[in-house]
Amino acid sequence: MTTGKLFIVSAPSGAGKTTLLKRVMADLPGLAFSVSHTTRLPRGGEQDGVDYHFVSRARFEAMREQGFFLEWAEVHGNLYGTSRPAVLDQLAKGQDIILDIDVQGAAILRKSAAIPAASLFIAPPSLPELERRLRGRGTDSEETILLRLKNARMEMQAAPDYEYLIVNAELGQAIDTLRAIVIAERSRGHRLPTGQPIAILSEL
Ligand code: ADP
Ligand code: 5GP
Repeated sequence: MTTGKLFIVSAPSGAGKTTLLKRVMADLPGLAFSVSHTTRLPRGGEQDGVDYHFVSRARFEAMREQGFFLEWAEVHGNLYGTSRPAVLDQLAKGQDIILDIDVQGAAILRKSAAIPAASLFIAPPSLPELERRLRGRGTDSEETILLRLKNARMEMQAAPDYEYLIVNAELGQAIDTLRAIVIAERSRGHRLPTGQPIAILSEL
């Protein structure tokens, strides 16, 4: 049975991670997005089951006690967690999975050697540009923006712990870099850019 690969992707909020991931996932087949559970309220346009599974804190804590999460963390005052059964099931089917998780969750998974993973950090070109993007997105309150900017300084300290760093300055270039990393990582696993295993090896 083929086994997929985890792509652990972290970034300070507003760096452009969602924008980059959506573009690269539309280009490259065989990449699934792991839909996390969160206690955060949905932002305008977010759909339950698509962007996140939105749950109460009590429900999240009960699931956590049952060992449902592969990793979990408290970020900007809300709880976020990755579904263990969903990820393990998709990996067993040979599907590659993108985990959009914070620096704490990424550190937990990097320590667990059980699942093959590549880790990527997406950085904004500067803190003033990060603030412009957070404000330009128009989805967060002033209080939330200030909290996210404060946390960004701490999150940037974790960048050297990741295998890859993408500075999202010019969007097109950052998309090209992210796509190239996924394709290169798939080659390390003897797979095609589509994620399919390379059949010729088993035919020799
Ligand atoms: P994140 O998922 O990291 O919180 P988003 O993808 O929501 O960030 O991007 C934050 C804002 O910045 C959005 O309005 C997005 O359109 C914009 N953005 C993303 N990448 C760039 C870029 N390279 N240059 C300018 N604006 C960008
Ligand atoms: P947002 O509220 O902007 O969607 O996400 C806030 C932060 O939570 C981001 O850094 C995002 O990567 C992180 N996050 C989302 N899902 C998870 C998860 O399942 N686990 C962890 N550890 N972090 C998550």
